[in-house]
Amino acid sequence: MMKKAASLFIASFILCSPIQASLHIENKAAKPLSKNLIVLIGDGMGPAQVTAARLYSKTVSGTESLHLDDYYVGQTSTFSERMGVDGSIVSGMITDSSAAGTALATGRKTYNSAVSVSNEEVAMPYASVIEAAEAKGKATGIVTTARITHATPAAFASHVRNRKNEAAIASQLLESGVDVLLGGGAAYFTGKILPDFEAKGYSVVKDRAGLQTLTAKHDKVLGLFSRSHFDYAIDRDSSSPSLAALAGKAIELLSAKPEGFVIMIEGGRIDHAAHANDLPTMVKEVLDFDAAVKTAMDFAKKDGSTSVVVTADHETGGLSLGRDNRYELNIDLWNRQKQSSQALNAALEQARTPEEIRKFVQTNTTITDLSDEEARFILKGDGTNYEREGAYNAVISKRLLVGWSGHGHSGVDVGVWAYGPIAELVKGKIDNTDIAKAGATTIGTDLDAVTAGLQAKYWYPKFKTMPDRSVVYPAKALAAKLGASADWDETSGTVRIAKGGTTILANLKDGSVTLNGRAAAYTVHVEKGTLYLSLDAFNELSGLNMTWDPLSERLVLQAG
Ligand SMILES: [Zn+2]
Repeated sequence: MMKKAASLFIASFILCSPIQASLHIENKAAKPLSKNLIVLIGDGMGPAQVTAARLYSKTVSGTESLHLDDYYVGQTSTFSERMGVDGSIVSGMITDSSAAGTALATGRKTYNSAVSVSNEEVAMPYASVIEAAEAKGKATGIVTTARITHATPAAFASHVRNRKNEAAIASQLLESGVDVLLGGGAAYFTGKILPDFEAKGYSVVKDRAGLQTLTAKHDKVLGLFSRSHFDYAIDRDSSSPSLAALAGKAIELLSAKPEGFVIMIEGGRIDHAAHANDLPTMVKEVLDFDAAVKTAMDFAKKDGSTSVVVTADHETGGLSLGRDNRYELNIDLWNRQKQSSQALNAALEQARTPEEIRKFVQTNTTITDLSDEEARFILKGDGTNYEREGAYNAVISKRLLVGWSGHGHSGVDVGVWAYGPIAELVKGKIDNTDIAKAGATTIGTDLDAVTAGLQAKYWYPKFKTMPDRSVVYPAKALAAKLGASADWDETSGTVRIAKGGTTILANLKDGSVTLNGRAAAYTVHVEKGTLYLSLDAFNELSGLNMTWDPLSERLVLQAG
């Protein structure tokens, strides 16, 4: 009986939701335009990042254009959804990678930090184009040079309120069914999780040699090539594959499946080099990404039934090519740097004197004319959490004749490049949500239907953990999601929550609570004017048997 009530409730929830309503307006699961879809994302790759890489290639190797140049179709806005915390805006005009990843993966806007969940007190999961492809029986893959649990890859196959919850993301990747996962982040795959992947049929590889042994008969692969992010391309040793090598292998494995495939390939570290304001390192990351674009395009042209879309999630660093009223760029010097500033940082941290700083700078960049003031500035640090590394890059960038607005993201539009039928859907000025929508249309899948299925299973409420480790939830917001009413009575200092014949009365003055007039043992907690209640109260109210998943910090409405 309980079970039936629950499924009836869920059915009515889905029918009432605006998501379902939109299904009647347009049938999005129309005839597919392409069998396969490849989405490439250059994290932090704004317009100046692309130009920098092109100018560098032209100067150093005489190549007139990047591989992606041939496929330019337009530009996309990147903003996220507005959200404030304690009076200050943390989200809105300038996106982070998780809100942008959510838009690119699911076609929905959300707040910075959210990974494919809505901007609500009780957040709802949004399905990604990868999840929709899986629902259609296609093979799927995620490839990145960042941690595979990092914001951008996470948005394609997991759902959490906060991108920092990478342990939850790792466990959701295990549940996700994504066939080929290649990236960094081995640190999040310790203990039972690796054997769990193997038990599900995944072959686990950890270096370039392991990657090369994979053939089409390995249909599920987890490749973890570094503890955290990959080393930067400029610092990489031969055991570490390039992004193009990862992409090529993943496409080779996935294209062996008859149903077709969807893959997301991220150049994950353009962003990190730009955050640090390390231009020479950033340029090599863009080129590493551009080589992967070539791999994808070569496959698509040969295959004839593949759409490819390339974009960035946002720009990073506020990079300007040119500075100080000099109409010049010192590109020759861009090629002199031997190591990333990150790799040099340990040595910089050891330095005690301006002379030592000068020596490090000379060894790494051949620059010999550091002023005393500049050397001392590097010793002192730039006053941000990049400290000496930030100051080092500020001094070097002056000589490279490039500028940075800071260590954060900026709000400029980013480029869009495409090949195949998807190109028509993403040309001109679009929004980042259009990338996911166009992807879903291209493979003939319906994001909204898959989203409705997810929302019938999992909700992601804000919550508080009590001193006894029990968990409480914001009563008004969760009651509303459950279709219950919540009324605050000022004179008696009580909140009445009611649904059908069930009434819960919480007294905020003495913390007592009743169920249908009788004392009940629910936990009552009030914080900043918000009433929180334990889950048993909401289960009583709804007739559901919701449970709490403490790792993913979500309510499980249906098992499985
Ligand atoms: Zn970033």
